[in-house]
Amino acid sequence: MYGAIEAGGTKFVCAIGNEDLKIIEQESFPTTDPEETMHLVEKFFKKHQNNIESIGVGSFGPIDVDKSSETYGYITSTPKKAWAYFDFVGSLKKRIDRPIAWTTDVNAAAYGEFINSYRQENLNVVYYTIGTGVGGGAIQNGEFIQGFSHPEMGHMKVVSHPEDSFKGNCPFHDNCLEGMAAGPAIEQRNGKKGQEIPVEDPFWDIEAYYIAQSAYNTTLMLSPDVIIFGGGVMKQEHLIEKVRKEFLNLINDYVKTPDIKEYIVTPKLGQNAGTVGCLALAKKLVTKK
Ligand code: ADP
Ligand code: ZN
Repeated sequence: MYGAIEAGGTKFVCAIGNEDLKIIEQESFPTTDPEETMHLVEKFFKKHQNNIESIGVGSFGPIDVDKSSETYGYITSTPKKAWAYFDFVGSLKKRIDRPIAWTTDVNAAAYGEFINSYRQENLNVVYYTIGTGVGGGAIQNGEFIQGFSHPEMGHMKVVSHPEDSFKGNCPFHDNCLEGMAAGPAIEQRNGKKGQEIPVEDPFWDIEAYYIAQSAYNTTLMLSPDVIIFGGGVMKQEHLIEKVRKEFLNLINDYVKTPDIKEYIVTPKLGQNAGTVGCLALAKKLVTKK
């Protein structure tokens, strides 16, 4: 068996899965302070301790993924004060002594989708989550793309929609994708949450315009085989088609991308992408598969 921890800014999801990455047991609890939250993690895994080979963690961030760094395994400069510079991997290891795979929440979700749907053909995958924040991860030849750190695609600059006067709400940047298009930006602009905005509201064209810009930039920079958009905001099922349309407008036939319905997609695993990805990363760590 393998363990999975999806460490989100609002909730943690812990799970146990088997060799086939089938989820056997899953438990979710709110993210409070590190001590209390890690105690619940420990309690969950202690029940299964003897059966678990390794644990995969996909964490909110930014996080330190540089194995040569002194703060490898830490959550770093997060605005969530209690978690800033928290030694996640160190704390977990003290509680449950197993090999730990460590990556970002969005990388884990990307990996879940890759393993589930794209590994056979070894396709190169980019995954965005549009939720409380916006994150992005990329997989090439089965490995995450990273250099000095993991990507932060959610903070790319976007061009304002001509009918949108919102300036964005990212504390670091004007007009970044997260500040313009994440759930809280939708809520601030419209005075209500995304789930309360009707399908026919013209705002969704504006939202799609920003998301499409990330697909445009991604296409020109990485030419992946597939771009996946997940996260709470994408529960608006009509949105993906609007994103495809805006994307085709922006790209203006400059590059010929794969069939648009196969190129810009939502996650086939839905809300389980992250958990399956964490299980797969745990398995990869100890079996090299
Ligand atoms: P998190 O990013 O915290 O892990 P989610 O991916 O579920 O969690 O994203 C939460 C955000 O998604 C919230 O801002 C919420 O308003 C928004 N959201 C959730 N469901 C919907 C929906 N059906 N339509 C539009 N927005 C939604
Ligand atoms: Zn930003």
